[in-house]
Amino acid sequence: MIYLHKITKSYEAGGHSLQVLKDVNLEIEKGELVSIMGSSGSGKSTMLNILGILDKYDSGTYSLNNTLIKNLSERKAAYYRNQFIGFVFQSFNLLSFKNAMENVALPLYYQKVGRKKRNMKALEYLDMVGLKDWAHHMPSEMSGGQKQRVAIARSLISDPKVILADEPTGALDSKTTMEVMDIFKEVNRKGITVVIVTHENEISELTDRMIFLKDGRIIQKAMANAS
Ligand code: ADP
Ligand code: MG
Repeated sequence: MIYLHKITKSYEAGGHSLQVLKDVNLEIEKGELVSIMGSSGSGKSTMLNILGILDKYDSGTYSLNNTLIKNLSERKAAYYRNQFIGFVFQSFNLLSFKNAMENVALPLYYQKVGRKKRNMKALEYLDMVGLKDWAHHMPSEMSGGQKQRVAIARSLISDPKVILADEPTGALDSKTTMEVMDIFKEVNRKGITVVIVTHENEISELTDRMIFLKDGRIIQKAMANAS
């Protein structure tokens, strides 16, 4: 599903170049639930943004669902993103002036699906994350955990193959963290590949596999449940 070979990435800052990813090799199979761990600044978000085709890499090979993701035009990149990927962010990124249903429906709006049809589908996905009764509430009326569940529903509505989540529980307390993780588990049971960036052990322990990044390198791969 995801194949990275010798991926490097540098940022130019203040006249010099900072190498953020160094020869990253990684394979993630279809249907896996994995976590990417590492301290702040280790390159987790950079790697996730490359996986999500939000950012370009300098050298190496990235293929997603057997498609080479390299030197894509903006249009092609957007096409593959819409086709394959759902995103979940720490800060939810909901539109404050749209209700829960409209937020979930948004990706379908961009795909030019009619209002009635996209709202009906949005209600289905809200139901899946346990928020059917909250469809007409605004984000400001919802708790952090509820907002993140709305964001997860939104990430699922265009039927992605992979969900990429960057510290999705970073702004949540431990109870709602577990509720959100239960939803990711359920999503994964439906066969969707889930990649969660986190620096919390309690989160990564709930995944099938942990990937550790340190200073832009993968240092260790361990099975979470190996004993
Ligand atoms: P993490 O998500 O693990 O905290 P990041 O991938 O966000 O790490 O960042 C890795 C390193 O790259 C950090 O040193 C950060 O300051 C730097 N960095 C990230 N984005 C940019 C950017 N757009 N321009 C310059 N440096 C960046
Ligand atoms: Mg980050």
